[in-house]
Amino acid sequence: MDDLYKKEQEEELIINKAFQELLQVYLASKHRKKVEIITKAFNFAKQAHKGVRRRSGEPYIMHPIAVARIVCEEIGLGSTSICSALLHDVVEDTDYTVEDISNIFGPKIAQIVDGLTKISGGIFGDRASSQAENFKKLLLTMSEDIRVILIKMADRLHNMRTLGSMLPSKQYKIAGETLYIYAPLANRLGLNKIKTELEDLSFKYEHPETYQEIANKLQDTQLERSNVFENFIAPIREKLDSMGFSYRIEDRVKTPYSIWNKMQNKHIPFEEIYDILAVRIIFTPLSPEKELNECFDIYVSICKIYKSHPDRLRDWVSHPKANGYQALHVTLMSNQGEWIEVQIRSERMNDVAEHGFAAHWKYKEGGGSEDEGELDKWLHTIKEILDDPQPNAMDFLDTIKLNLFASEIFVFTPRGEIKTMPQNSTALDFAFSIHTFLGSHCIGAKVNHKLVPLSHPLKSGDQVEILTSKSQHVDASWLNFATTAKARTKIMAILRKEQRTAQKEGEELFNEFFAEMDLEPSSIDVEKLCKLHEVDNREELLAQIGSKKIVLGTDDLEVLKEKKPTTTSAWKKYLTFSFGSGKSKDKKMEETVSQLSSTNNIDKKKALKLTEDTIQNSYIIADCCKPIPGDDVLGFVDDKDRIIIHKRQCPIAVRLKSSYGNRLLAAEWDTHKKLFFPVNIYLQGIDGVGVLNSITEIISRQMNVNIHRLSFETNDGIFEGNIQLYVHDVEDVTTICTNLKRIEQINSVTRIEN
Ligand code: MN
Repeated sequence: MDDLYKKEQEEELIINKAFQELLQVYLASKHRKKVEIITKAFNFAKQAHKGVRRRSGEPYIMHPIAVARIVCEEIGLGSTSICSALLHDVVEDTDYTVEDISNIFGPKIAQIVDGLTKISGGIFGDRASSQAENFKKLLLTMSEDIRVILIKMADRLHNMRTLGSMLPSKQYKIAGETLYIYAPLANRLGLNKIKTELEDLSFKYEHPETYQEIANKLQDTQLERSNVFENFIAPIREKLDSMGFSYRIEDRVKTPYSIWNKMQNKHIPFEEIYDILAVRIIFTPLSPEKELNECFDIYVSICKIYKSHPDRLRDWVSHPKANGYQALHVTLMSNQGEWIEVQIRSERMNDVAEHGFAAHWKYKEGGGSEDEGELDKWLHTIKEILDDPQPNAMDFLDTIKLNLFASEIFVFTPRGEIKTMPQNSTALDFAFSIHTFLGSHCIGAKVNHKLVPLSHPLKSGDQVEILTSKSQHVDASWLNFATTAKARTKIMAILRKEQRTAQKEGEELFNEFFAEMDLEPSSIDVEKLCKLHEVDNREELLAQIGSKKIVLGTDDLEVLKEKKPTTTSAWKKYLTFSFGSGKSKDKKMEETVSQLSSTNNIDKKKALKLTEDTIQNSYIIADCCKPIPGDDVLGFVDDKDRIIIHKRQCPIAVRLKSSYGNRLLAAEWDTHKKLFFPVNIYLQGIDGVGVLNSITEIISRQMNVNIHRLSFETNDGIFEGNIQLYVHDVEDVTTICTNLKRIEQINSVTRIEN
């Protein structure tokens, strides 16, 4: 008893200390000092969560306190958000209701807590459709009050920071969700730091060993980078001092995640990534109104010290990114002959870059706001998309995600107004971005005064004039080159509307036809006509009749009068539906399926052991990514209850993670070099006599590995080759690559995805 009491006392101390730290951070911020209501929210939440613990064992209240601290310290929000963060799990996890919160803390906080409760379940459910539903909810609450999503982001960040105490299968789900939705959202909201941390944490949990490897290499090369940094900035300091600026210069080191990303995308090893170090100059403007000019002043003066790369000046000072990011990026050649990126920004710009645009956004409480910036426009677009219900959940997600991820280009209207568009936007997208009427009647465009088709992809700086015609109609083929969420939803909405009208007209014509023939239409008749005209269903048939693509006539009458029933086909359909593969001739296939469907006895809490036996008999190696022993993998239970093994970073697995998170299983290898698996290796080097010979010699003679396929191409003395081999595991691949690299002419050797 005594021990228990002591433990309680200790915890009480820890909790209070954490809260005091939160208050300290809040008091140091530039917000009004509303300590009283924050303390009230803390006490309320503490009492509500009393006796409950997190998986890690610590008292539950530590989580809301941590979230509130992120909200205040890292996103820069004020007391309303801090209170909401403290209370964010109360309605979800305890008996208190939103009304209770409203009575005690007022309607605003209650509304935010309500929004947070609505989206508390996480985005990813068991089905893609529930995922889309959840995501829609999230966007809807977000467009009502942006603070909801900001607090949610803090909640997610804290959960990611403490992910270690979750089950591995849960970790993949949460990490997958984070990479799929939250990191891009954080990016879109300008929460740069949070985005970077979310990505890095996801990576750490999905590929712990690779993460560690890269982190170690970063550590090992740190000293070298510091030297480069110090040497590089010394003359810059002198210059800035002489210009009278107060400033700081920081080194920005790429995170393991973005290094890994680059290694994957460019098929290069760590050693060949040259932009790990970047330099950031953050200055206080000599006068506020000269802020932008001074960015360029600094640029010009440092370009006198180092030569700049002609193609790599990025001006986000004159044209901020849609998420508010503002800075001047320039790449300079150091005295050691390395390109180094320098980012020039004012303190204000830096603040926006780290805390996000949203933190500076004026919250509209009733009255209008003077700040109708890019964020508002974006939220407005989201609202429009949400207002337009889309039948296909996955389409909706893809459309939204397209716009979350896309980086931006700037295009000009004929009158010189500037418009921000997602990268890869086409002339048609641009037309829809201005007005639905312009989009739906668009026949072409003039880009920089030259005539182009609707599908023409736009580039930054293009001036675009849209050409319309009253007789133009939206066509389904437009979906092939409409890339923005706005254009796609509008086009689909118009097509659906037209389809409905056509169906209605079709139904009238259909009924008239039957009445004239003195027939009573039955579902079998409909089936017969569908078959005759090769359409899938009744709706399609009616739509085609309505749009006069099908005209009912004598042929149809003949088919209808045929006694020989087309019903067999209907029966067959029924059979396959209700009995599945029960009538299948392929007995063997069926057996494997039943043998494999032993997922019921699987303990989700333990990782699947991938042994030689289970790989051959119980699990299926995914065809898309073909993992081999040693790869980071996960298991996925498919519709037929089979367990498919994917690489964790496989794009298909990423999608599965996000759509069917609860069907994931942790998996680890336990193999003993008996089975062979295919891998692809890519190499590049200088062509010369005997290179090919040395390669095959090493692989087949020295290593005794079977070459399955080999293709080489030489271009102006440089060769590139792809080799497919059968190996036991990742270790084999590493040894082969190391040995191949020893061949003098060979420049790089990497394993590639198929
Ligand atoms: Mn929470």
